[in-house]
Amino acid sequence: MGLSRLFVRQVRTIQRQARSMSYQLKFDKAFVNQKWVAAASGKTFDVVNPSTEQVVGAVPDMDENDVSKAIDAAGEAFAAWGQTTGKERAGVMRKWYELLVKNQDELAKLMSAECGKPLSEAQGEVVYGNSMIEWFSEEARRIHGEVISSPVKTKEMVLIRQPLGVVSLITPWNFPHAMITRKAGAALAAGCACVIKPAEDTPLTALALAKLAADAGVPPGVLNVVTCARPGAPAVGRLLCEHPRVAGISFTGSTAVGKVLYRNCASGVKRIALELGGNAPFIVFSGADLDKAVDGAVACKFRNCGQTCVSANKFLVQEDVFDQFVDKLQKKMKALVVGDPFAPGVNLGPLINNSQVTKVTQIVEDAVAKGAEVRLGGKQVPSLGKRFYEPTLLLNVDPSMVCYSEEIFGPVAVCVRFKTEQEALSIANSTKSGLAGYFYSSDISQAWRVAKALEVGMVGINEGIISAAEAAFGGVKESGFGREGCHHGIDEFTYVKYLCFGLSQ
Ligand code: ADP
Repeated sequence: MGLSRLFVRQVRTIQRQARSMSYQLKFDKAFVNQKWVAAASGKTFDVVNPSTEQVVGAVPDMDENDVSKAIDAAGEAFAAWGQTTGKERAGVMRKWYELLVKNQDELAKLMSAECGKPLSEAQGEVVYGNSMIEWFSEEARRIHGEVISSPVKTKEMVLIRQPLGVVSLITPWNFPHAMITRKAGAALAAGCACVIKPAEDTPLTALALAKLAADAGVPPGVLNVVTCARPGAPAVGRLLCEHPRVAGISFTGSTAVGKVLYRNCASGVKRIALELGGNAPFIVFSGADLDKAVDGAVACKFRNCGQTCVSANKFLVQEDVFDQFVDKLQKKMKALVVGDPFAPGVNLGPLINNSQVTKVTQIVEDAVAKGAEVRLGGKQVPSLGKRFYEPTLLLNVDPSMVCYSEEIFGPVAVCVRFKTEQEALSIANSTKSGLAGYFYSSDISQAWRVAKALEVGMVGINEGIISAAEAAFGGVKESGFGREGCHHGIDEFTYVKYLCFGLSQ
């Protein structure tokens, strides 16, 4: 049976399974105030499986009027939800977590179908995304205030933390589950109500998450999912920042869109947390365990076909181990299997959409035109479909090339030789981004020195995969601000209020 017929079957299977899911996912509605709703205009847009380019669903193309109804619903829901105790919220969130676990296989399949990541990776993301709800269900009970040591006997000073109110969450397609739960988990734990706008490429997972939240007992209006096609995103995005009932926004996506939203938030002086593009250096010092470094490099670079904001963007390798590292990396990369995300043993699925294919193709063409060596890969795989791209290894790269300075966001590994620690640091820090950085070293003093000197929000030291619900995720410089996960994730959704008690008789 040809691959494409196999895909058609899989999509049908997924749709059948989805219909029989315990949460009865609709493929044609958004989820507002605990109701499946269409856009008032009746317009919808297609959700496409990037592997087969088959339509797997169609969801409402909502406009500002539709979205403002969701904001109003969230505003009304906040009046009660914001008054609940941490223990009450924890109980509901724990139930949500349990339903997420119960439905984890279906969620993973749905996610693979709409975003193209290999099923095993989708299953990993579901575990990670679910863990955010588990974590924040526990954190809900630990949102404490402080008693300040007063400088005078006539006053007592106390700080309490209160929920922001209604928050807008705008999320990308590369982690359709975890980018939502990492934000919504913290928001709900804090007592906020939210309006989620998922990426237009991957709204189905978001809708499934929302329905499961409702089934778990999250009250109507507390968690809403609105959908709109890309042309409508700027207007809807503006409303999600500027609407008077919205108190804050949390965004994960490109730096360009993050800057627009930051500006949108200025007029109402809204709170904003931004998790934007990265440009992660991955440094291998001589003396490092090269086999571990290569394993870390492959895991870090090729997860989600390189479409991850914490992906290694440039491998900086010390000159005396450069050739050895490159040979080992090439060997591991050659073993990577590109193909149908549902086939067992596949490591790389398709790129998400045609503009990603164009971007990756142009980055490689630019490097080649300027003299880079393509050691491995370097082209699309038309036999699999339009969006598949080979794992690619580029050498002889220099600062004139786009791949050297820009975020690649694709399965293209770039290796650069360096002489000294200072040189590695200066190349690593010579970008406007500062999300993640990685290095491999067996020298403890160097490890401490380099970890402190890297201008990033997160550092992997002899480790290529760093995310966890317990740890603080976020960047510096143009990678944004605010932290997700960890107890710090709650900070983005709370105000500190100062209470001063006068004690004079
Ligand atoms: P990517 O390039 O990875 O698609 P984007 O930053 O463009 O990343 O998209 C991330 C999210 O931001 C998606 O949900 C998308 O629909 C949304 N988005 C895109 N443009 C805007 C905008 N002008 N205002 C608000 N949201 C936007």
